This record gives sequence, C-alpha cells and structure tokens, in this order.
Amino acid sequence: MLVSRHSRASVSPYITDILAQVHARNPAEPEFHQAVEEVLESLDLVMDRRPDLRKAKILERIVEPERVIMFRVPWQDDSGEIHVNRGFRIQMNSALGPYKGGLRFHRSVTLGVLKFLAFEQVFKNSLTTLSMGGGKGGSDFDPHGKSDDEVMRFCQSFMTELMRHVGPDTDVPAGDIGVGGREIGYLFGQYKRLRNEFTGVLTGKGLNWGGSLIRPEATGYGAVYFAAEMLATRNHTFEGKVCLVSGSGNVAQYTIEKLIDLGAKAVTVSDSDGYIYDEEGFDREKLAYLMELKNVRRGRVREYADRFRRAVFTPVDRSLDHNPLWTHPADCAFPSATENEILEHDATHLIAGGVIAVAEGANMPCHSGAVPILQDGGVMYAPGKAANAGGVATSGLEMAQNSSRRSWPREKVDRELHHIMKSIHRACRETAEAYGVPGNYCHGANIAGFLKVADAMMDQGLV
Ligand code: NAP
Repeated sequence: MLVSRHSRASVSPYITDILAQVHARNPAEPEFHQAVEEVLESLDLVMDRRPDLRKAKILERIVEPERVIMFRVPWQDDSGEIHVNRGFRIQMNSALGPYKGGLRFHRSVTLGVLKFLAFEQVFKNSLTTLSMGGGKGGSDFDPHGKSDDEVMRFCQSFMTELMRHVGPDTDVPAGDIGVGGREIGYLFGQYKRLRNEFTGVLTGKGLNWGGSLIRPEATGYGAVYFAAEMLATRNHTFEGKVCLVSGSGNVAQYTIEKLIDLGAKAVTVSDSDGYIYDEEGFDREKLAYLMELKNVRRGRVREYADRFRRAVFTPVDRSLDHNPLWTHPADCAFPSATENEILEHDATHLIAGGVIAVAEGANMPCHSGAVPILQDGGVMYAPGKAANAGGVATSGLEMAQNSSRRSWPREKVDRELHHIMKSIHRACRETAEAYGVPGNYCHGANIAGFLKVADAMMDQGLV
C-alpha cells in the first residue's frame, strides 16, 4: 500500500501501476518519486470522473519530462584551477505556456531533485492562472565561499550552453536556492552577449534593466497572504501571532517582512549551520541586519546572536531525530529553507507547540510522514505549490511587463500578487470541496492545478 505525505489512503491499482513505472524508469530519484506519489494520490480522486484523461494516457505523459538537458560546465577559479560541474534544465510541460521555473545552484542538486521541482512547478504555475508551463534547472555548483569573479565565470559558462535551450517564448528561468540578483545579472549578461538580444529570457532581473518591482518580495509576501486567507477561514488574523520561520534567504526574509507588516512576531530563522531563536521577535531593524548579513556580507545566521544578545543560536545536531526549531511554541509555521525539513517528530512538536497553520514557503519542506500528522492534528496545511506560488506569479507579471516594455508601479504588482494568492486559496478550497475532501489544501491544489494542464494537453493532441 502506498502511503503518501498527505493522507494514509491507499490508491487504486491504476495509480499503483503508474507509480511502479515511475520508480522503474527513474531509479535513485527519491525526491521525484515523493513528488509524483503525492500528486497522483490526489489525482486518483479525479480519474473515475474523467475516463477521457485515462484513455489519452495523460498521467503517463505528465510524469515524463518533455525534455531533459544535461551538460558540462567547466570554469576556472581565481587561482587558475579548473573545475567541472554539471548543468541541468528540465523542460517538464509546456501545455500552458513557455517552460518557467527557477535555477538552483547548490551542492545537493541532482537530476532527481530538479525533476521533482520541475514536476511541482507544472501544477504551481497552472494555479497562478497565468500562461506558464513548468520547468526547473540548476547545477551542483556551490556558490558558498566563491568570489564574485568565480560566480561570474561559472554563470557565463553555464549560460554558454543553456542559451541554446531558452528564450522569452520558449523557456524563461528565474532564481531559486543559490541564484539571486547577482547570478541572474551574470546569466542575463552572457545570454545577451551570445544572442545579441535584449529580451525577457530570465526573471528576477535588476529593476533598471527589465526587472519587476515586488519580484524579490513576492514568494515570502505571497506565502503570508495565503496563510492570512487560511487563518480567516477560522476567524483569525496575524495580529499578535507568533510564527516560526526556517531559512534565512529570499523567501524567509520577505516572509518575515510581511509578518511584521501584519502585526505578527517571527521568532526564528536558520541556515544549514543552525538556527536562531529570538523570543522578542524580529523588528525592522533586526530584519535589516539579517538582510545585510545574508545578502551583502553573505555571512551565517550565528552572527545574529552576537549582535542581538538575547537571541540564542543552536547549531545543527545531526544525532537528533528532529529539528529543535520546530519545538518552540507558536501559532503558525513557514518552512522556507529546503525540501524535507519537517519530519514526523517535527510535525508532532508543531502540534504540541500550538501551531494552527503551516504554509510551505519552500518546495516540499514537509516530508511524506509529516503531512497526515499535521492534518490529523487539525493544522491547516498549505503545500508549497499553492503557498509559494507568489514568486512565479510575479515572474509572470515581469514577463508581461517585458513584453509590453512597460514597468508597473509597486502598488499595482502587489495588488495583483495579493489577488492571485487569494484566487489560488479559493481554487484550492473549492476544488477540495468539489472532490469530497473539504479543507484538504493538498488535494485541492493538486487537482485544481492538474485539471487545467490536462485539459490543455487534451486540446493540443498527442504531443
Ligand atoms: P536562498 O535565498 O538561497 O535561501 C535558502 C535558505 O535555505 C538559506 O538560508 C540556506 O542556508 C537554507 N538552506 C538551503 N539548503 C539547506 C539545507 N540543506 N539545510 C538547511 N538550510 C538550508 O533560497 P530561497 O530562494 O529563499 O529558496 C528557499 C526555498 O524556497 C527553496 O525550497 C526554493 O525552492 C523555494 N522557493 C523559492 C522561490 C523564490 O522566488 N526564491 C519561489 C518558490 C519557492 P545556507 O546559506 O546555509 O545554504
């Protein structure tokens, strides 16, 4: 019996067969298996009502990337030594528009990790209501400790191959872990130089050369907007709520900023060395310090506890079966670092600590076993493909601005983002209701995202 991350239900033999094929055809890709399992379990609720999709083998097609590109990325460090990394772009599904999804530079990047992210991206992009297919890419290059020149040489080498496969109407990458404004700048510069074209081939660009206001803020703000909608269903607001946030990068920083705006108190941040607990909570001064520490000095969160003496730094302890960050009493949690950072014990601790809502800022931060524990514990749980869709939605708005060669004011982009997050929330709730699983945002997101893609695939024939 398959047990997935969002319920303990078994699935039909039809879905079991497809999952067996996915395992056989994609060996040693556990993250991809995990992502496919959780979506297909939801889609089991759809297939009886849609024999046309089954006949057209839509599920068998949707789990297979349209194209996978893997390439060598050679580059030289400052001392002249040569390094060789591996580059990837997964073009997963283009039924709804050009492939769209971020680039991740991190030592943990593998083909399987990027396939899971590309697969999730297909449904996420569909939920935004904008015209975007799904893709993802990146490299096992680790930017930590590299000089700006080294990062630039790496980005130039990476784009020298990637430029053959992307373009404003083909595939539009963006940032993700390890790829922020600096990397997007170097990648864009090399694309422009090689193609002799100034086009919207990447999103997350600098404001003075085609970027959109609110794009840096969008994923974090969007996660909080989504969580505010969830809280409203139980007549709660963020005023006075205590929130646990993990990560300390782009998503975590702007999650904290929006929580401060709404009167909530974020008390934790983390990086791969450990986490900070600041019982007094982040205010704007502390957040500005964190942003300077992580974005400019590229330092570690432990330095925060040197600057703000009442905050406590706890280093990672790999001998533990849980992450102590999730043991602190709180009302809401925003896992915003990386995949599988909330395991079963963590879910139990969140419930014991009083958490009523979990919104995934990161992609798949809750492991398979943790989600049913949260749901059975009465926690409102928003999967990443819904809660963190604000980033790609605003990338879609950046593409629209690039196409019309106009820049929209901050208020307009923020209004659009807020509107999109509310409509994703509504779609998840209404779809869950329509399929007999009211309140289950996971099933709601998977089914609502899937149906739009599946219908487009049906319309476009066997391609
Ligand atoms: P980022 O700016 O690079 O920050 C990532 C943060 O997570 C850093 O604090 C990093 O710490 C921490 N982290 C990464 N890997 C870790 C690990 N294995 N263990 C513990 N901490 C780890 O990246 P980001 O853009 O905020 O992305 C965070 C998550 O949000 C990812 O899952 C990403 O896919 C997802 N997401 C991002 C966007 C977006 O617009 N940026 C949109 C949707 C979803 P270190 O410095 O120690 O590595």
